[in-house]
Amino acid sequence: MAWNIVIAGGGFAGSTVARELERILPRQSARLSLVNDVNFALYTPFLPEAAAGTLEPRHVVTPLRDILKRTNLRLGVVDMHDPEAKTVGVTGHSGESETLDYDHLVLAPGSISRSLPIPGLSEHAVGFKSLADAIYLRNHVIETLELANSTEDSALRDKLLTYVFIGGGYSGLEALAELQDFAADAMQHYPSARLHGMRWVLVEAAPMVLPEVDPGLAEYAVRELRGRGIDIKMSTTLEEVTEDSVKISTGESIPTRTVVWTAGVAPHPSLKKLAVPLDERGKVKVDCRLAVEGLEGVWALGDAAAVPDPNGGLCPPTAQHAVRQAPVAAANLAAAIGIGSPREFDYKGNAAFVNLGRYKAVGKIGDRTFRGFPAWWMARTYHMSQIPGLPRKIRAVMDWTASLPFSRDLSEVGSIGRPGRISPDQYERGGSHRPIG
Ligand SMILES: Cc1cc2nc3c(=O)[nH]c(=O)nc-3n(C[C@H](O)[C@H](O)[C@H](O)COP(=O)(O)OP(=O)(O)OC[C@H]3O[C@@H](n4cnc5c(N)ncnc54)[C@H](O)[C@@H]3O)c2cc1C
Repeated sequence: MAWNIVIAGGGFAGSTVARELERILPRQSARLSLVNDVNFALYTPFLPEAAAGTLEPRHVVTPLRDILKRTNLRLGVVDMHDPEAKTVGVTGHSGESETLDYDHLVLAPGSISRSLPIPGLSEHAVGFKSLADAIYLRNHVIETLELANSTEDSALRDKLLTYVFIGGGYSGLEALAELQDFAADAMQHYPSARLHGMRWVLVEAAPMVLPEVDPGLAEYAVRELRGRGIDIKMSTTLEEVTEDSVKISTGESIPTRTVVWTAGVAPHPSLKKLAVPLDERGKVKVDCRLAVEGLEGVWALGDAAAVPDPNGGLCPPTAQHAVRQAPVAAANLAAAIGIGSPREFDYKGNAAFVNLGRYKAVGKIGDRTFRGFPAWWMARTYHMSQIPGLPRKIRAVMDWTASLPFSRDLSEVGSIGRPGRISPDQYERGGSHRPIG
């Protein structure tokens, strides 16, 4: 008999579980299905570089069909779960639905940008979590430079050339550093905008940025970014966002058309529909074997799961943890069907690197800390070893090499993937551009 194994989510956690199961389960013993809403896995650590154009966006994703050998990939979302009948419902892109039977279910739907009830946040801010976010932001920054260069209205220029990031964790800081670097280089092509100058602001609620790294390294990162003219406001919160300003807790109102929200993540909301036990933050409750509390044959991991951290508390939502939880979930699932022995999640990893752009980074491995170029080099080498598939590694190296002698590409290609209608109206409306703001 072949066991039916269904995996929901094909990111770091889900795709690694699938690859591990392909490796440890004999072909005839299991039918593997992986459901994901897109047919690729996104390598998020490279997202800031995709936004800044040093990496081609398609080179920071890996097609799941390239890395999965015998797992059946289904495009769609798992949006129903009946634990009694051991079935899940999948809704495809065109709305068609399908029911899959399972003997074992692995839940790895990841997370989304955390939202808070701040007036105007959902209407006027963008997150930094997906490839679409990165592509949008790059095009948006170019468009602000174009408009700022052509307008004579100084107040409008202020708004266009001010970029506000909320949240000083590693993803926010890396995105800000890379985009500011990109915009500073691009400015040489926009003389009027350059005369006016740009303003980049980081707003962080805690007294210090980068809680993931050692305080000395966080201070180094702050000094480095302030040295580039970035205004870092700590112990400050966002109060309100409007179409062309933000209000912060110091009482200041900052005129801006760009607000990037990078203040943490929340478990994927689809989990609420899946009849699994969730903790107070909405994460799936699991034990140290990644087994879901009270449900036999159901496993969960990655950002979506409340996995006990061997260092105490819960594992942070990082790819490092997700890819190390995956072999444990796979081994325990295999053990449950009589292959191999169960294992506990005991990874005590204590490494973190944060890219600051301009060939600089900060990082730590255990008690050792690194900063500047050596940290940047170590981080890049590590990520090269981690991005799945040789073709993607080679493409990333080619992008970096090509970006050394050439200046930044300033094409604003926001219309890609949004074809115009075949109608004379679209030209009257000014093409297919999305308005700034
Ligand atoms: C900008 C940025 C930079 C980062 N840099 C680092 C870093 O340097 N180092 C590090 O360790 N971590 C980093 N992270 C964190 C890391 O990306 C996450 O911790 C990691 O992606 C979690 O893996 P996951 O498999 O749980 O979720 P994901 O990788 O998000 O994968 C989940 C997948 O499931 C899909 N999905 C969601 N719901 C469903 C459903 N109902 N049915 C089917 N599919 C579904 C999602 O669309 C997605 O494809 C970064 C994150 C960001 C945003």
